Amino acid sequence: MDLLYSSTRNNKVKVTASQAILKGLADDGGLFVPDELPKLKVSLAELGKMSYQEVAYEVMKLFLTDFTEEELKYCISNAYDEKFDTKNIAELKEADGAYFLELFHGKTIAFKDMALSILPYLLTTSAKKNEVKNDIVILTATSGDTGKAALAGFADVKGTKIIVFYPKDGVSPIQEKQMLTQKGDNTHVVGIYGNFDQAQTGVKKMFADRELEKELDAAGYQFSSANSINIGRLVPQIVYYVYSAARLYHDGALKDGETMNVVVPTGNFGNILAAYYAKNLGMPIDKLICASNENKVLFDFFSNGTYDKNREFILTTSPSMDILISSNLERLIYRICGNDSEKSASFMKELSTDGNYTITEEMKAQLSDFYGNFATEEETSKCIYDLYNKTGYVIDTHTAVAADVYKKYVKETKDNKLTVVASTASPFKFTRSVMNAIDAKYNSWDDFDLVDELSKIAKVQVPDAIEEIRNAQIVHDTQCDPDKMEDAVKAFLNI
Ligand SMILES: *Cc1c(COP(=O)(O)O)cnc(C)c1O
Repeated sequence: MDLLYSSTRNNKVKVTASQAILKGLADDGGLFVPDELPKLKVSLAELGKMSYQEVAYEVMKLFLTDFTEEELKYCISNAYDEKFDTKNIAELKEADGAYFLELFHGKTIAFKDMALSILPYLLTTSAKKNEVKNDIVILTATSGDTGKAALAGFADVKGTKIIVFYPKDGVSPIQEKQMLTQKGDNTHVVGIYGNFDQAQTGVKKMFADRELEKELDAAGYQFSSANSINIGRLVPQIVYYVYSAARLYHDGALKDGETMNVVVPTGNFGNILAAYYAKNLGMPIDKLICASNENKVLFDFFSNGTYDKNREFILTTSPSMDILISSNLERLIYRICGNDSEKSASFMKELSTDGNYTITEEMKAQLSDFYGNFATEEETSKCIYDLYNKTGYVIDTHTAVAADVYKKYVKETKDNKLTVVASTASPFKFTRSVMNAIDAKYNSWDDFDLVDELSKIAKVQVPDAIEEIRNAQIVHDTQCDPDKMEDAVKAFLNI
């Protein structure tokens, strides 16, 4: 029997995995969640002998049960190929007592590639299965990395168009140039005069607009999402946690009966939720350590059970985590209130009307798998500096937030078991902040001189993703206010 998915706001709604991928978000604004979290029956010893692609198949088939073996293997082999600059797809690097799980070896050098290189295949396969006639319009809000990864994944994919909204002044110079130079007739990029939360809220509003849906349908279009609200993004992200546990077991670092901790630099709560699903699959994961930057809404939530977005939005040097509404937390809330969609819908209603909600003591008791903390800008920068000076290994600002929080965790709890830190972006993507952390003298340098200098000091080749944009033409030049996003979409689609 197929595993079905329900909306977190109405669990009478039941859809298959492929339908959930096509829709992205449920009609009631809820997120799709599997009715049951499956268990992985393959042992770590067996998984340890498998390639990334083989592990991906074992994990994904449990969640995407209406895909045939042939379909799923077709998606996996086309996604995880030479687009990645390492055969292993994800690499583990040991430095200063932790294993850094490098998830940035894909086309756009951020972990978003792990899921967005497969999403276009999952989506077009889902469209075929469900006999969809319309072209699919991917609407995406980005805090910087999803945008480019989604553009790269969907560029020139037949039957799709992609429109990306990013905060005009809220991304790194390299991130912005990566997006604005994106080729492909079906790609559109819009800078909004606002922050990520406004972009995400605008996109969610369009998804929930039934009038707009009719207008689109009449013109031969329908929306879907490349954000981590789409289950088609979440499921592929579970794979690398399973893969890393299997590798560590295979290499003898993780022994029978032992567990490991996972540290995740968190924004929209997608990546860490994938780690939570991996734990529920039966992986030997103990604590899920949720690391925030100065936008520490999740740290506060794990401390006192109140989620409160009413606060100043801070622009930091880890912009992909500058988020006050962590969408995927809704999936955890649904689960810890006993899969009760009425309850979770009412929390989300409070969030949208009052900007906050407080969970019950009963629900709080179910959060013991999680530990939350945050790193200030100064601590993040010092963490990059210290690690580089101690080991020569250079990490990006987001990973540094996680590494700093990990140090705090060990200091507080004395728990120093084997730990995997999700390394979510290449330092080349945030060159300016990274180099400034290493030496203030770099402040006056040009962006691409910094790239070459980083390559020298880290002894790492400049990634192709950066070489490509060095001299690339800017091809996108649209900006709008957050309340004009729908007009921008209609203009692109000529409706
Ligand atoms: C998106 C992103 C994050 C945050 O991941 P979430 O799944 O949104 O929590 C962290 N680091 C980098 C580099 C990212 O691109």
